[in-house]
Amino acid sequence: MDRNMNGNTESNDSRNMDIPVPCNDCRQNLQEYLDGTLEKKSSLQVFMHLQDCDGCKIEHDQLEGMFQMLENLQDHDVPEGFDDKILASVNYEGYRAMENLRRERIPVFLEEEYLPAFIRSTVTRLAGAGISAASLAVMSLTSMPEYSGVLTVSLIVGLVPELVVRLQSLSRRTVVALQSES
Ligand SMILES: [Zn+2]
Repeated sequence: MDRNMNGNTESNDSRNMDIPVPCNDCRQNLQEYLDGTLEKKSSLQVFMHLQDCDGCKIEHDQLEGMFQMLENLQDHDVPEGFDDKILASVNYEGYRAMENLRRERIPVFLEEEYLPAFIRSTVTRLAGAGISAASLAVMSLTSMPEYSGVLTVSLIVGLVPELVVRLQSLSRRTVVALQSES
């Protein structure tokens, strides 16, 4: 099997049984493979990969050894008051202090700065609205069907900056409102 410098197989396609799975896919699936919860096809792919790949085989053996060790650990009775001690050690004050920070988190694409400055600029938005208004005016004044396509396009394109900015700010307010509800 061909491997590149990272030890990965050349192919990224794991859907086809004939094409070998890359090491990354194999290693991601190892835990489920060992648990026996991996679906049949992927399981077979991992099995095949392990026959050829020493690196993944070592990882497989280590993981398997660790699972066996965990299984062999003897059960111990939990000491009295164990839960209380754990709970008492948790820093709830610190957690509560960060409440507002967590609430204010909004997706990065809804941050104002996510849009390029030229789209957000008032000049662009006004110019765009101007283009749309002018197109609309020309369309309503003239009856030249050969231009109506161009005019419709410029009408729509002119509205884009304003729409994008408004849509983003509406979404941002919605997200913030939903977060403060929960
Ligand atoms: Zn491998």
